[in-house]
Parts: sequence; C-alpha cells; structure tokens
Amino acid sequence: MERRTTRAIMIGDDRTGRIGIGGDHPVSVQTMTSGYTFEIDSCVAEINRMHEAGADIVRVAVPQRKDTEALPEILAQTSVPIVADVHFHYQRALEAVEAGVHKIRLNPGNINDRREVDAVIDACRERGIPIRVGVNEGSIIERKDKQQRAAELGKFFADRHQGHLIALMIAKLEEYMDIFDARDFHDVCISAKSMDARLVIEIYREISARFDYPLHLGVTHAGPKETGSIRSVVALGSLLSSGIGDTLRISYASDPIHEVEDGLELLYCLGLRNRVGAELIACPTCGRIQVDLFTLVQAVKKKLDKEIELPIKVAVMGCVVNGPGEAEGADVAVFAGNQRGIIYVQGERVANVREEEILDRLLEECRRFQDRVRNGEVTLGEKVVEIVPPDPIGDLGSGVAKIESGQVERLTIDES
Ligand code: SF4
Repeated sequence: MERRTTRAIMIGDDRTGRIGIGGDHPVSVQTMTSGYTFEIDSCVAEINRMHEAGADIVRVAVPQRKDTEALPEILAQTSVPIVADVHFHYQRALEAVEAGVHKIRLNPGNINDRREVDAVIDACRERGIPIRVGVNEGSIIERKDKQQRAAELGKFFADRHQGHLIALMIAKLEEYMDIFDARDFHDVCISAKSMDARLVIEIYREISARFDYPLHLGVTHAGPKETGSIRSVVALGSLLSSGIGDTLRISYASDPIHEVEDGLELLYCLGLRNRVGAELIACPTCGRIQVDLFTLVQAVKKKLDKEIELPIKVAVMGCVVNGPGEAEGADVAVFAGNQRGIIYVQGERVANVREEEILDRLLEECRRFQDRVRNGEVTLGEKVVEIVPPDPIGDLGSGVAKIESGQVERLTIDES
C-alpha cells in the first residue's frame, strides 16, 4: 500500500535512540501514561511497562509545575522518547523543554496567544525538539460564540458528516500553522482528533490534502477497550489503508498496555510493521467443538507472548472443519477432535495427544521450531507437507453429514 509523502521529524536522543515520524519511517505506536507524572516511581514504572510492550513513544501530562519538575528524573530512568502534553499553560512547555523532554504537544484550542506560542517554538528550535499541534474536537469550539461560529462555518463542508466541525478544526489548524510558518519552524506533526470515527476519517483526509506535515492519528475518548477498539480500528484502519498516517495512538479508558498491543496489531494486520512475536490464529468455536478451546487459546497466548520472539504463525483450531486448512497455512498448529489434538509443524503431523497434553506439546513444538529457524534449518512460512483434509463431498455427502455420522472423527483421529 502506498503511503502519502510527508516531511519527516525525529524524536529522541542518543540515549533513547531516535524514532522518525513521517517520510519513509515506519508508522510508530504511541501511548500515554494514566497516572500522575509527579509521582515519579509509578510514572517510571508505567512508562517502562509500556516500552516493554512495544510503545515507540510515550506521552505524559504536565498540568502542574511539580510535573515538569519530575521530568529530569523520569527521563533518567526511562529509555523511550517522552512527549510532554501541554494544555492552557505555555510555561509548562518551556519547563518541559528545559528538562530535556523529546517532544511537546500543544493544543491550539487552549494555548493561542501568539507570543506564548512563539516562545515555545523558539525554545524547541534551540533544543531541536519537534512540536505536535494537536487539535481536539472537544476543545476546539470557542465557548463564547460557539453557535455563531458553527453557523458561519457550517456552509463549508456542508455535504460532509459534521461538516461544521471539520471547518472549525481546519480553520483553527490553519490559523495556528500560520504562526509556525511565520517563525519558519517546520519540525511539526499534526493531529485532529474526535470521538466520532467518521469525523476522524473526514478530517484527516482533509488535512492530509492541505499539509505535508506527518500526521498523528487517533480517535480520542474512544471509550473502554471493548467498544473503543472498534471505533479506533474503523477510523485508523481506513486512513492507514489509504496511505494516511505516520504515527498513532489508540485511546482507551482501560490499561494503556492495550493501546500499545492493539496499535501494533493494527499495523501488523495492514503490513505496515514487521511482526514481533508469534501470530496466533484461533477458531471462534461452535457446536462441533470437542475440547475446551477458549481456555486452551488463552493459555497458549500467554505462553507464546512470554516465550516466542519470532513471528511464528500458530493455529489453534477446534475441529476438523477448518483445522486442516489453517494447520497447513501455519508454522505450528493443532486441531482438536474427540478430546485429542493433532499437532502439525509446517504441514507435517508430529503428534496426536490427549487434550490435557496439548498445551505443553504445542509449546514444545513452537520452541523447537523457533530454535530451528534460528539455526537456519527451516524458514518461517514454508510449507513442507501438503495436508489432505478429509473429502467433505464423498460418499457420505456434505461435511456436516460426515460429522453427524461420526465419520470425521474416525477418519482423522488416529489414536495409535
Ligand atoms: S474449526 Fe471447527 S470448532 Fe472451530 S469454529 Fe470451525 S467448525 Fe467450529
């Protein structure tokens, strides 16, 4: 998929390493701490946990002086680029820059005094620190003349979903970027977030046509993970698949680790990042299931996350209907039947074990396979043996009839 061409900015230093945003750099995943920044120990622990989970960049809120005062110690104890999130008080941005933070986020909705913005730009330029200009639907509308502004701007983008909000956000961004242009400062990335997935798609399409700065994608206030993931994936997946977006944050009212995991998974699914760790495929189960698959899948996932570093494709399937097909496409696979599991490695049948032995044997095969890949004996994704699944349209008619008659189990489960 072709990505839109943007300028590139760099964030980080010699100690953290530098992450590129925009240009040819891979799309990066960000998240934000959920606790108080001034509580240094817990903030450091949260940042390090996020970094370990795969976050490329972590943002912290700095609403108070004691938050920016905590930054030098936080920076000393972490090794991932840190962004200071600044609202209302431009002094917090100056203090964060002084503390050595790696990027500043400004909100045009609440820091819009030109002299204040100029002061932040000058401080960032001096230290070589980029700025994200982050417009939010929730803080964009001037409280005083909200209805009048909305009515005036409503005629623009009238044919679009929430056209007046698109107009307000674009107007605010363009006004703000004029300040940066006048200062000849272009070390910038832009975001324009809303909780409305359709609006997010519309607004980012619009700003990607108007600016060549890298874009930070996000659906803000998306809600708990259960529903927020749908909103986020719809909007961000749509934009990324059309080449728009250079870095992203998925926002949940849940443990931020899920934001990192889901952001990475989204990029893996779209082929925008190389997978780290195993890829787990599992069936949803149905009335044909003959083992406790949900428990097995959770246990397999936990072990794979801990023990497997290579992008080995692992399939855990409940029965013979789709089991052989997925087993054939996976590096290591199990498909179950009759309280047993048949285990395959690159299409080659290696074991037929009882249900309680499936987890250990499957993991053993994954570890062994990983060692063989590392030793150059096998290649990921190769198919060694063609699995021939039982013919579903044989003498007995459809696959369903075969299963109902018990023929599938007899055909596939070799208990010897
Ligand atoms: S693999 Fe079997 S158990 Fe799993 S969903 Fe498909 S038919 Fe049902």
